[in-house]
Amino acid sequence: MPSDSSLRLVWIYPDLLSTYGDQGNVLVLEQRARRRGIEVETVHVRSSDPVPETGDVYLIGGGEDRPQILAAQRLRKDGGLHRAIARGASMLAVCAGYQIMGSTFGGEEGQPVDGIGLLDISSTRGPARAVGELVAEVDSELNLPTLSGFENHMGVTHLGPGVKPLSRTLVGTGNGDGFEGCYAGHVVGTYLHGPALARNPALADLLLEWAVGSTLAPIDDSWYDRLRKERLDTVLAR
Ligand code: GLN
Repeated sequence: MPSDSSLRLVWIYPDLLSTYGDQGNVLVLEQRARRRGIEVETVHVRSSDPVPETGDVYLIGGGEDRPQILAAQRLRKDGGLHRAIARGASMLAVCAGYQIMGSTFGGEEGQPVDGIGLLDISSTRGPARAVGELVAEVDSELNLPTLSGFENHMGVTHLGPGVKPLSRTLVGTGNGDGFEGCYAGHVVGTYLHGPALARNPALADLLLEWAVGSTLAPIDDSWYDRLRKERLDTVLAR
């Protein structure tokens, strides 16, 4: 991020993909950056508008099958997100948004639909809808605490050699193969709703650190910690 400008967050297609409070991920990044004295500018990009290429962190959420297909078509045609990620921007893609990043995903009838090919993954329909709490232990390279959130999806996701699993699933379905989500470079895909970054502030800080290129000062996270502990204790005690 250039030092003379603010951190630029780009929220992609709120008109198509924004289920289960995923927009909260934007608010969490804004707040956690501002609490460190970092100025933030957020751009909400509707699906009729071009995706700006100059963002620092891109966010995309979950959605129903039809808006998901439309979003994939428009993002592919637009090309702005590809150029931004090629420049080194960071991204958090959730559920439908995660599936779209791959080569293909399952449409309303399970038919393969083209994704945008930003991550080496593909998704198909799973045997049953995965609904409920999701808890997962993060890949040790990322040095993050256990992730928690909830999931609601039909798709399962197959990871290619170009990505690493984000975490190992302890509770819930995630990708459907014992792992949950994936990452490659500064791009993270996940099935976690909740919103993910409210439940997992360390993941929010990782995205911010990638964007600003340095470690962030710690902040008082007592409220976040209470929420995390309550959810984890409840789910792991079941
Ligand atoms: N439509 C996708 C699925 O069912 C994504 C759902 C979602 O984003 N919650 O797998």
